[in-house]
Amino acid sequence: MGEVKKITIDMNEKALDQDLERYVARAMELGASNAKVVLADKIPVDERVTLKCQIPRCFGYGVGAQCPPNTLKPAELRDLLTKYTRAVFFIKDVPPDVIVRDKTTIKERVDAYQQLYKMVSEIESMAFYDGHYLAFGLAAGSCRHTFCGQLKDCQAMNGDKCRFSLVSRPSMEAVGIDVYKMVAQAGWDIYPIGSSATAQSVPKGTLAGIVIVQ
Ligand code: SF4
Repeated sequence: MGEVKKITIDMNEKALDQDLERYVARAMELGASNAKVVLADKIPVDERVTLKCQIPRCFGYGVGAQCPPNTLKPAELRDLLTKYTRAVFFIKDVPPDVIVRDKTTIKERVDAYQQLYKMVSEIESMAFYDGHYLAFGLAAGSCRHTFCGQLKDCQAMNGDKCRFSLVSRPSMEAVGIDVYKMVAQAGWDIYPIGSSATAQSVPKGTLAGIVIVQ
């Protein structure tokens, strides 16, 4: 961690542009394939994204504290985003055989998701200590499977402390962000990968993360 900055009334607004560029650079150092600064009002939030958690029903639906229907609703996120101006958005490309649902690559898949969650939490932490103390991050997939997949339940759903409270986050899609659209908007490549996709049928997998900074 660098030097912790004093809190100012404007939340260090003057330093914001430089700080955002540092977060982009740090995302790339941490393994992002692409990263950029985006405007908060250009983040696409759509109720149909969380509809797709239920139809067809995702194995993560309802079984973790950070997934629908237990997390922030799209309307709540949309409202919150009106209070922010800028965010750092990044993707991490993964090989096709790692992203498709193949039992032989579970370890590599979980490792890739864990790396993405760590990127999000580190950049969120950088922003916090730079004085952008209301920054918050969103990751990809489900923390239930990324961190607690070998465990019988989500501890937070039982009223106990989340086992990975500092690194666990809702995913972008869990709160209604249209990640496919957002990646395409950024000019980057992404492909629809569902249960039937095979490693031969897709060029790559894409995991996305975002830190809404200020
Ligand atoms: S206990 Fe595990 S599944 Fe539950 S919120 Fe924390 S990381 Fe996610």
